[in-house]
Amino acid sequence: MPQEPKKRHSRQRKGKRRAAIKLAVSSYIFCPNCHEPSFAHAVCKNCGYYKGKQIIVKKEKKKDKEAETANT
Ligand SMILES: [Zn+2]
Repeated sequence: MPQEPKKRHSRQRKGKRRAAIKLAVSSYIFCPNCHEPSFAHAVCKNCGYYKGKQIIVKKEKKKDKEAETANT
């Protein structure tokens, strides 16, 4: 037979325990290039800059625009 709790915990005790259970909000910085919020020590997702250099060059969606204009 498994052990059973002898007394039930009060609502206050349960609430106090569960108050500590929460998700941590990861810290973020504002990108010095585009001033959008981005994660520290990581390439900015908005402009692709890191340490003042462009790491990721975003491709322009020319094909999509052409397709849109062809349809209309
Ligand atoms: Zn940026």
